Amino acid sequence: MTTTETSPFTVRREGTLPAPSLPPFGQFIRGEFVPSTSASTFDVVNPATEEVLVQVPSGSVEDVDAAVAAAKAATADWAAKTPKDRSAVLLRIADVIEANREVFETLEAANTGKPAAVAEDDISSAIDTFRFSAGAARAFTTLGADDYAENHTSVIFREPVGVVGVITPWNYPLLMAAWKIAPVLAAGNTMVLKPSEQTPLTTLKLAELIASEVPAGVLNIVTGSGRVVGNRISEHPDVDLVAITGSVGSGQKVAATAASSVKRVHLELGGKAPVVVFDDADLEAAAKGVRSAGFWNGGQECGAACRVLVHESVAEKFTELLIREVSDISVGTPGAGDDVEVGSMISKAHYERVLAALDDVRKDGLTIAVGGNALEGPGYFIEPTVVTDVPAGAPITRTEIFGPVISVETFTTDQEAITRANETIYGLAASVWTSNSARSLSVPRRLDFGTVWVNSHLVIANEVPWGGFKGSGYGRDLSIYALEDFSRTKHVMYNRG
Ligand code: NAD
Repeated sequence: MTTTETSPFTVRREGTLPAPSLPPFGQFIRGEFVPSTSASTFDVVNPATEEVLVQVPSGSVEDVDAAVAAAKAATADWAAKTPKDRSAVLLRIADVIEANREVFETLEAANTGKPAAVAEDDISSAIDTFRFSAGAARAFTTLGADDYAENHTSVIFREPVGVVGVITPWNYPLLMAAWKIAPVLAAGNTMVLKPSEQTPLTTLKLAELIASEVPAGVLNIVTGSGRVVGNRISEHPDVDLVAITGSVGSGQKVAATAASSVKRVHLELGGKAPVVVFDDADLEAAAKGVRSAGFWNGGQECGAACRVLVHESVAEKFTELLIREVSDISVGTPGAGDDVEVGSMISKAHYERVLAALDDVRKDGLTIAVGGNALEGPGYFIEPTVVTDVPAGAPITRTEIFGPVISVETFTTDQEAITRANETIYGLAASVWTSNSARSLSVPRRLDFGTVWVNSHLVIANEVPWGGFKGSGYGRDLSIYALEDFSRTKHVMYNRG
């Protein structure tokens, strides 16, 4: 179904982006772009226009094997560098991204259809991730040496894990790569990274621009499918740890494959973040918070504020405020201006998945208070949508739609709000909106999510950890905890007797 005449939304298309600066063609192995051993390619598409931007190699098992061999050969030298020297490399990477900020923003927006403001934020955040990890590399220490057994002195070393395999998603291509490259290299590992087959361009551009800054073999990039390239990274006996940011299903497959070589696994998976709005909340602030955190990146965001649980006594007022906020959202192409809030969905397949979820909402008899339809093409645009009067346990409260769709359900007691918020397989993020200080202290402790915001949502900083519980996985990105995840401890005990 496409949008009706009464829709408050149209796709703004005024203005165009400059032509993106495309990366070289090939796999980035041992510090240079080399041809893939596979002749097949896949199209990389601009989802806001449906144009094919470029073709990229659909890599092979042999490509992964070559990249892993390069990474393994580089481990000893990179691990032997002092934290100060590794930190200097990361600072230079940050400087290169900053100096080429517009190249990255344009390329990211062209490959994802995301609004210019989101692309700008992604690139700023990626720069900060490298700067944070550069500092963290030097501040990352272990317990001091001491005696814990008679006449024996213990020293605990922090070591790199070795070769780390990384698999990234399409929603924040460069940023999700940065979240892994920075701490993985800071902790002294080398790596092989597979970007999403849909969005490899900024990761390849990064490789092109930092090739002379990073020793050959320390960072290798292989493009291709999850089924071939991702699977080979997960099973390869010389990959010591595999980290994936993606859906629960892909994470399960990676973990199962990794089990055969008993390698460590780091999982950052999906989410379905509840937003619990109590009767004492600042309702206007909560509605504005849901507008920005629910529709950021078109709702293609693992921590999106997509599931509102509002106290029944304020539900009518809150819903009215939310509908007003959402009806005012500006939809458009990346070139249409910095005030565009929602861009296109990432691909035709994903656009169809989100529309199918909206069909299910209709079949379930729920009320679509605003939006609910596709917008006119070209491009995979969907109206910002609010679904109201959602009963407890409805499928929309549990399934990750990963699009511009927010559901609103009501609760009566605090206990009910907490129980229902926790009734999901996911455990990535949640928020609580209240002006009651006792609630603001007690409720977050009882919510089973890796991040809980109070009177806020989707504010992320490099100093604090990001990662989930339950089906959302068990890895930690950002903060000193990421360096912990990408390193190992070794105890050496000296007999002084
Ligand atoms: P996806 O799972 O389809 O793909 C993610 C990556 O995994 C891609 O590179 C893909 O090629 C690869 N992959 C797929 N199957 C694989 C397999 N069998 N073996 C190895 N690799 C495989 O996810 P997506 O659609 O790209 O991204 C959206 C998902 O990512 C959502 O569920 C979202 O919540 C999640 N996500 C989570 C976080 C987080 O921090 N927790 C951040 C961003 C996105």
